[in-house]
Amino acid sequence: SSSSSSSQGVLALTKQELECYDRPDFPWSDEAQRHLVDTFRLREFRPLQLRAVNLTMSSKDLFLVMPTGRGKSLCYQLPALCSTGFTLVVSPLVSLMEDQMMFLRSLEIPAALLNASSSKEHAKTVMVAMTDAKSPFRLIYVTPEKIAKSKLLMSRLDKAYKAQLLRRVAVDEVHCCSQWGHDFRPDYKLLGILKRQFPLVPLLGLTATATSSVLLDCEKILNVTRPVTLTASFNRTNLYYEVRCKDSDSEVFLNHIADLIQQKYHQQSGIVYVFSQKDAECVSEQLQQRHIEAHPYHAHMDPQDKTRVHRRWTEGRVQVVVATVAFGMGIDKSNVRFVIHHTISKSIENYYQESGRAGRDDQPADCIVFYGFADIFRISTMVVMETMGQQKLLQMVDYCHRVDRCRRSLMAVHFGEVWEEQDCGRMCDVCRGRKEELSEVDITEHAQQVVQILELAVSQDERLTPLKLLEAWSGKGPAKHRKGTASTTLRRREAEGVLVRMLLQGYLREDFSFTPYTTHFYLRLGRKAPLLKSASHRLSMSMRPEGATAVTSPSGGDQEKRAESKSKGPSFEDGPKTKKAKTRETQ
Ligand code: ADP
Ligand code: MG
Ligand code: ZN
Repeated sequence: SSSSSSSQGVLALTKQELECYDRPDFPWSDEAQRHLVDTFRLREFRPLQLRAVNLTMSSKDLFLVMPTGRGKSLCYQLPALCSTGFTLVVSPLVSLMEDQMMFLRSLEIPAALLNASSSKEHAKTVMVAMTDAKSPFRLIYVTPEKIAKSKLLMSRLDKAYKAQLLRRVAVDEVHCCSQWGHDFRPDYKLLGILKRQFPLVPLLGLTATATSSVLLDCEKILNVTRPVTLTASFNRTNLYYEVRCKDSDSEVFLNHIADLIQQKYHQQSGIVYVFSQKDAECVSEQLQQRHIEAHPYHAHMDPQDKTRVHRRWTEGRVQVVVATVAFGMGIDKSNVRFVIHHTISKSIENYYQESGRAGRDDQPADCIVFYGFADIFRISTMVVMETMGQQKLLQMVDYCHRVDRCRRSLMAVHFGEVWEEQDCGRMCDVCRGRKEELSEVDITEHAQQVVQILELAVSQDERLTPLKLLEAWSGKGPAKHRKGTASTTLRRREAEGVLVRMLLQGYLREDFSFTPYTTHFYLRLGRKAPLLKSASHRLSMSMRPEGATAVTSPSGGDQEKRAESKSKGPSFEDGPKTKKAKTRETQ
């Protein structure tokens, strides 16, 4: 099988060599299969689990990259049962370790946990067990700071190593080692000591972060040379992705969500993600009024209330949790049939994580995001301090705004993967829609009108919020904002679509001002705005003509739509301003 020098970890394994690790005839194969079914009560391995188990059982150093919820833990828990001695598990959060302890206890797998708040006696029992060949503990969980700071622990591990009882090291959430990751933890930097002191113990790093620069960094920090890296696809094929337009009338919008929950998802479990604590409370109340078993969940609730809502939902006694992003860690409900986003996420990565809580049982589930113009600016002011915050948000907006690219293919880019349309299997609204209905509409003249208004504002030393800009463009609001400029015939939603397109393409850019209570968002001329001066420069946008974002040319004579835009009149709601702090939450 792996005859080459790969056992030294010097050369990467070839595809064929890797496939050898899917074989069911290793010395431990029968025992592993038995534990899978009898101890873990699972029917079969998921993709890459068996390969990972066999690699680490063969003493290879291994990095396992898999989306959250796919079952990384099994890849060290099962080997721990098939080996003598114990597996040391390093995990960043006590709450994560406690969840695992509870899970292992329910399966009657003996495990122990050491953290800062462990009692002296408990710590002593565990440390003694480390060098006792008859100790029952198959897994010992520790925080990274324990390893970094406890000389006693290191000396016990050293003894265990020499007695060949330290059989495997698993570093969970291994991306925490790297400063390039999104969740750097300084104590993880010190874990390099493990491979240095215990070079013969196989190390298994687990993460849902696939970036190769992060993984390379982790290798260096952990002192592992060329580990085998297994990367599972991030494509969740059973999830259906869809974007819907958010109605600016909040009653209409809530009825829309309530109808979905009552009809399409009748008696099925789901999550509605909202922007703020206040939204969580309002929306759940409104759903309750529409006879839906909904409960709010946000960071500022009592811990007991949070646990209660979580438990009742897990048991199926509450149908819907209306939650902020605080509802995330530790959710492990398998039969979530829908995740509805009442407001867009702040990035595609966040959206993938949040929506990915649907369909963990591999059965079909829906991920629907409601996309509204004003939300862009609510979130923009929230992420204003984050590096790359605006770019990431605009990518999310792009995901929602486009009607011509498979939703999955737009997501894949963020995981360094390429998913072709056939990888979607018509499991997104774009792939399900009819391509021939799409039309490419020239919006150059619309964009020129917008630029005129902003130039006028610049000449008056003024900045316009998206709301004020739309107002001026539709011939309303203060006269000085529209002196000599053209007003649009577009319907409100069409005009919004043009502004978003211009923002995404760099014809407009965002700008902020800060007061002690509020962050204001403005739209300004972007670096590409001057291009619109040239007669030959055109700007276009893909549209679904029947859809809500259809645009008519300003010079074109589409009387019906003009009449409609007049009769309806643009209804401006509060958009660009966001009250600061209190009601808002970040992860
Ligand atoms: P991760 O660490 O990758 O986020 P976990 O290890 O916490 O995921 O596992 C998530 C869920 O998947 C758990 O409920 C686990 O029992 C379940 N699971 C793991 N492996 C399988 C499998 N082969 N078949 C079905 N469910 C599985
Ligand atoms: Mg995990
Ligand atoms: Zn698709």
